[in-house]
Amino acid sequence: MRLILVGPPGAGKGTQAVHLAAHFGIPHISTGDIFRANIKGGTDLGKLAKSYLDSGNLVPDSVTNEMIKDRLSHGDTASGFLLDGYPRNVEQAEFLAEVLLKNLTPLDAVLELSIPNEEIIKRLSGRRVCRNCGATSHVIFDKSKVDGVCDNCGGELYQREDDKEEVVANRLNVYKDQTEPIIDFYDKHGLLRVISAVGDVSEISTNAIAALK
Ligand code: AMP
Repeated sequence: MRLILVGPPGAGKGTQAVHLAAHFGIPHISTGDIFRANIKGGTDLGKLAKSYLDSGNLVPDSVTNEMIKDRLSHGDTASGFLLDGYPRNVEQAEFLAEVLLKNLTPLDAVLELSIPNEEIIKRLSGRRVCRNCGATSHVIFDKSKVDGVCDNCGGELYQREDDKEEVVANRLNVYKDQTEPIIDFYDKHGLLRVISAVGDVSEISTNAIAALK
């Protein structure tokens, strides 16, 4: 199964990606997670990416494309993969198509998580992430048992710099201007499936799996 998950920030791509990757037995590849791990580790890639992530803008394609090409060359992708957060513009989608064509590994489907803007703002402004394990919670919809402490590992919960209001507005604009056109691109290739990202997490997972069968 070779899949792409697409949807605006806050649609729940990360959460659904974890379920889908486990269901299909494929690696979950999140470009955002790779950038954040590099920022945390103080690598050259992290230093380069930090200002883009903090402002909600896209890291340059040359950097992101090479990073994903390298990741797709790892052995674990032989069983397939689920891309979360990549591609994010038509140039990246074209680059990916070339890489997959060379590897003779065509995509099976692109799943769009669809959600209205008001819902996104509510979700992102309350989202908290564990500094240690990356698990997410929400100050209203999915509260941790102890304020500021991760239920999963006891790590410290924090608000991502790019979940702050001004940056969220920019991320939504970037999504609309740059990422939405890839939906049309994949629709023309007959790969697109769309489900609603509003409602219960497990119900959305069930709908996602049904849409991919
Ligand atoms: P995410 O965790 O997917 O919301 O990504 C967080 C941030 O990482 C984005 O706002 C971008 O700054 C950067 N990023 C993630 N994926 C990409 C990509 N495919 N191309 C460029 N920048 C990306």
